[in-house]
Amino acid sequence: MKQGQLIVISGFSGVGKGTLINMLKTCFPDDYRVSVSATTRDPRDGEIDGVSYHFITQEEFQGMIDRDEFLEYAPYVGNSYGTPRKPVEEWLNEGKNVILEIEPQGALQVQKKRPDALLLFIAPPSMEVLKSRLIGRNSEPPKVVEKRLKAAAKEACEMEKYDYILVNDNRFDCMCQIRNLIQMHGQRAEAQKDFIAALRSDIERFQEENNL
Ligand code: 5GP
Repeated sequence: MKQGQLIVISGFSGVGKGTLINMLKTCFPDDYRVSVSATTRDPRDGEIDGVSYHFITQEEFQGMIDRDEFLEYAPYVGNSYGTPRKPVEEWLNEGKNVILEIEPQGALQVQKKRPDALLLFIAPPSMEVLKSRLIGRNSEPPKVVEKRLKAAAKEACEMEKYDYILVNDNRFDCMCQIRNLIQMHGQRAEAQKDFIAALRSDIERFQEENNL
């Protein structure tokens, strides 16, 4: 069976990655699986353990590192975040496209391990828009918002390493762009080796049958 595609989506805190991914899942429920990360940060209001994140202690996180259970992991604004390897590998083997919503240090680890992964970076239309979105969602105290805005400068240093940069000005347009890019990535010749081999043997059969 053809392996699924691994898609990494990064972008500054508050840029709307989560909303875009939820829209993709709602519009195309069969096409994507979204990895549930482990984190040591506290749950926000409304977040559900095992759905939004696996909320674990630093000791549990370290245990997962020691047992090599992460595809990637990284610190972010005082907490640790990581992608559990097993479900991602299982979904890819089942031919499902898997989305990881992770920050750039982790994204670059994935790029090294899986050069076939598609790396997308979502940028805000401006820093003012980002700030008002972060404040508007009211999920973190002002000090944390400040730290997250500061983290954006560091994250911006890695943007050239991504395959595509998209601006989330209109979320519907941005979601369509993401979907198109994922579809085009799947059409690369390199991703279609099995199809090419099958077509070649069909050509051979056809030539034999028709004495060409
Ligand atoms: P938040 O605390 O807002 O949910 O996430 C903070 C940052 O951590 C976001 O940029 C998010 O994409 C990133 N993040 C979430 N899960 C993971 C993960 O498993 N690995 C890495 N490297 N970053 C993650």
